[in-house]
Amino acid sequence: MAMKRVIKGVHVIPMGMANAFLIDGDDGLTLIDAGYPNKEAAVLGAIRALGRSPRQLKHLIFTHGHPDHIGSGAAIVRETGARTYMHPLDTPMAETGGPFRPMTPAPGLLRRILCNLLYHPEERMEPVAINEPLTAGKILSIAGGFDVIHTPGHCAGQVALPWLPGRVLFAGDVCMNIMGLSDPVGFENLAEGRASQRKLASLSFDAAGFGHGEPIASDASSRFRNKWCNKTAA
Ligand SMILES: [Zn+2]
Ligand SMILES: [Zn+2]
Repeated sequence: MAMKRVIKGVHVIPMGMANAFLIDGDDGLTLIDAGYPNKEAAVLGAIRALGRSPRQLKHLIFTHGHPDHIGSGAAIVRETGARTYMHPLDTPMAETGGPFRPMTPAPGLLRRILCNLLYHPEERMEPVAINEPLTAGKILSIAGGFDVIHTPGHCAGQVALPWLPGRVLFAGDVCMNIMGLSDPVGFENLAEGRASQRKLASLSFDAAGFGHGEPIASDASSRFRNKWCNKTAA
């Protein structure tokens, strides 16, 4: 599967059951997340398809330190020289390449099956060095600016990243968009995860990208509100 445009300047790159996002900014290219291992060719192909060269990838921002988001990180950095960014709570997992913190499956049978199938805390990845810590509440001044919002629960060092010029929320694994907005496969802390979902539902944005599932191109924040702000929501 090849990359697909989400909105002007933002493409989703399938990285094997996980997504990465490529942003074409004034200061070069920025990648959000790095998928499973051995998927670097998908990113390099996407860069070339935009008429750019791998060295024009300047920034690699990780939403969190799970294997399916850092897997091809080291290989991508080798090919591009991109600077890397991650929340300090997850940096040790990325820089050692595992093991990873355990998660409890999210409520429901399907998520229990998926979590046990897809998430293996003892797994080992090629370590990837992190150049800059992501600090919550600060604007990250690359690609025109991202807000950095700490969204623990699924993973203690997870951040969500609203990209300000395009009004796109990169939600990481705060939720998925598979058969509608829904929980990630698991949580380190369910109550924190719910609080993070409600925090994102209180924001205003147009489009949204997820670690897993289809991006939403327009009117995304109303879907978040319907899912997590009404009284009957889980
Ligand atoms: Zn995750
Ligand atoms: Zn994931």
